[in-house]
Amino acid sequence: MQNLVILGGGTAGTMIANKLRRRLSDDDWTITVVDRDDEHRYQPGFLFVPFEVYSHDKIVRSRQRSITEGVALVYDEVDRVSPDDDVVHLRSGRTLSYDYLVIATGTTPRPDQTPGMLGPEWRHSIFDFYTLDGAEALATALDSFDHGRLVVHIAEMPIKCPVAPLEFTFLAEAWLRARGLRDRVELAYVTPLDGAFTQPVASARLGHMLEERKVDVVTDFMVESIDPDRKVLVSYDEREVPFDLLVTVPVNMGADFVGRSGLGDELQYVTVDKHTLQHTTYDNVFAVGDASNIPASKAGSVAHFSVEILVRNFLEHVAGRPMTESFDGHANCFVESGDDKALLIDFNYDTEPLPGKYPIPLVGPLSLLEETRANHLGKLAFRHIYWNVLLPGFPVPLPAHMSMAGKRVPHTSTTSKET
Ligand SMILES: Cc1cc2nc3c(=O)[nH]c(=O)nc-3n(C[C@H](O)[C@H](O)[C@H](O)COP(=O)(O)OP(=O)(O)OC[C@H]3O[C@@H](n4cnc5c(N)ncnc54)[C@H](O)[C@@H]3O)c2cc1C
Repeated sequence: MQNLVILGGGTAGTMIANKLRRRLSDDDWTITVVDRDDEHRYQPGFLFVPFEVYSHDKIVRSRQRSITEGVALVYDEVDRVSPDDDVVHLRSGRTLSYDYLVIATGTTPRPDQTPGMLGPEWRHSIFDFYTLDGAEALATALDSFDHGRLVVHIAEMPIKCPVAPLEFTFLAEAWLRARGLRDRVELAYVTPLDGAFTQPVASARLGHMLEERKVDVVTDFMVESIDPDRKVLVSYDEREVPFDLLVTVPVNMGADFVGRSGLGDELQYVTVDKHTLQHTTYDNVFAVGDASNIPASKAGSVAHFSVEILVRNFLEHVAGRPMTESFDGHANCFVESGDDKALLIDFNYDTEPLPGKYPIPLVGPLSLLEETRANHLGKLAFRHIYWNVLLPGFPVPLPAHMSMAGKRVPHTSTTSKET
């Protein structure tokens, strides 16, 4: 019998367990998933919680029910992996031996990494929306916020879903306008990047949208600390940004056990080959989703596309054949822009987000880098696709590799490929 152990039963861990269970015989393979609890959270839904669009029951389901029969689910905290002995140590003292290990423990917001963030103002005037309880607390705070300075802030890159803070800003602006409060609230967007986003064409487009909405953009801001008494963000170069209500995305880090086990980099992301997702030292260890150090966006779409590749490679690897599939860093993300509209971006390691149509060239129905109602409806429909198609591991008619079909390359693009 061969043992496959998957650490983390979130988006990537659930998809890969469900897909591999169908492909690996019950007689030859046991598959075990380890996670802390039975609550699978649909994280893209957290964005809408502060604006009371989604409630708890729309975005939380039983983890057990998302995982197919024939996969053992262990509720425990991973404490350490001994990769030289092929053993996982759990917090309870239990150990799990493996022949193959897939690490899918994601990334976690770490407010403890910025001095002053977890001080007396945490959940009073300082909030996050990257956790469900943070998003729920922020909903209450927003409800009574009717004037002052609302600052949306990113502590450090990389973060999961790098467009989510922009989406929050656009939604907050539209929400304040709808409530007749926009003139009473100053909005600021504070980022460590040199623009609204990481890539030139998208950054220019999204930066222009912030400008149109009269959002003050503060760039290259590397936060050193927060002074809770004066309610200011302080940067390493001694700039200060005052706030009345701070919505921050704290430093994101991989799981602590990755660091303790010597499997990761300085942010505790598992070091893997960016095309095969195989660990750089241990041939029987793979990482998928936000937990890995691949230079792609940390996003559910990346988890989905890379799981497709990893499943095919894994089956070749365990059959003793060379792995022939190569992940290209494909990501696509809807960007909510308020007023029931959204943009869509589609990109990979080599190609930045470009304008055009998706998934069918010239037709769409989705538009790249353009605000449309169809994109917004796509974003809302995605929740149903997530629970009913993606998580169970059913095939989705979208290729895992990015396609240039339907994309236009503007002169300003740094993209190496052309349509
Ligand atoms: C506000 C927000 C909006 C987002 N919007 C989008 C979007 O629009 N589109 C998109 O593609 N992506 C979006 N994402 C990102 C997406 O949710 C993640 O990229 C995706 O969930 C990553 O999947 P994962 O399996 O790698 O990690 P997760 O789904 O986070 O799963 C990791 C699992 O590991 C478990 N775990 C961690 N450490 C341990 C341990 N020590 N012991 C046991 N278990 C452990 C956790 O409990 C968790 O269940 C958004 C995220 C947020 C926060």
